[in-house]
Amino acid sequence: MRLIMLGAPGAGKGTQAARVAAELKIPHISTGDIFRANIKNGTELGKKAKAFMDAGKLVPDELTCDLVADRLAQADCAGGFILDGFPRTIPQAEALDKVVAELGTKIDYAVNIDVPDEAIIERMSGRRACLSCGATYHVVYNPPKTEGICDTCGQPLVLREDDKPETVQTRLSVYHEQTQPLIEYYGAKNALVSVDGTKPMDEVFADILKVIGK
Ligand code: ADP
Ligand code: ADP
Ligand code: ZN
Repeated sequence: MRLIMLGAPGAGKGTQAARVAAELKIPHISTGDIFRANIKNGTELGKKAKAFMDAGKLVPDELTCDLVADRLAQADCAGGFILDGFPRTIPQAEALDKVVAELGTKIDYAVNIDVPDEAIIERMSGRRACLSCGATYHVVYNPPKTEGICDTCGQPLVLREDDKPETVQTRLSVYHEQTQPLIEYYGAKNALVSVDGTKPMDEVFADILKVIGK
């Protein structure tokens, strides 16, 4: 199955994409995680992406689309994949359509996780991220077993620079302007399914499996 996750920053895309990927045994591809890994490793791409990310802006499409095309061409994506955080603009969605068409496939579902802006700030200020393995936690809703330490890999957890409230406001505006139009885009292709992302995580997960027919 070939899936993409849509939703505002903090809607729960990463949390649910990881669970769906494990359930369906398909790779979870997060462009945010790929950019953060590049920043950590000091690559050219990381240097270019960092200023945009810290400001809460999108990394330009030129730097993003090729990276995803290369990733989707790898062998582990042949049986399906779940994209988290891509596409985020109409040109990215068009580029993705081209890539999957060239691979002789299509996107089965765009899963929209619906969460109102009011709930987002609280989610983001409580989010703690592992920059080593990409796992995310929440200090209230999904705390790690040991405070400040990743359950999966034992590395320290951080509050991302771009999760501070000032930057979250910018990211929400960017989401409404540039990413929300994708809901209509995938609706027009009859690929859109939506779930209520304000429910507890386990319920959101069960709802996602239901709407994708698993
Ligand atoms: P969140 O999960 O909170 O929505 P991400 O980890 O997906 O955040 O993304 C963090 C930042 O990385 C974004 O604010 C943006 O700067 C950059 N980014 C990630 N994916 C994309 C993309 N598809 N296009 C442009 N920028 C992106
Ligand atoms: P996204 O990838 O869309 O930016 P995340 O999956 O990282 O979102 O989730 C954002 C924050 O909200 C994290 O701290 C996560 O633990 C928490 N979270 C995710 N889903 C829920 C939920 N259904 N209820 C409460 N908190 C949630
Ligand atoms: Zn980790």
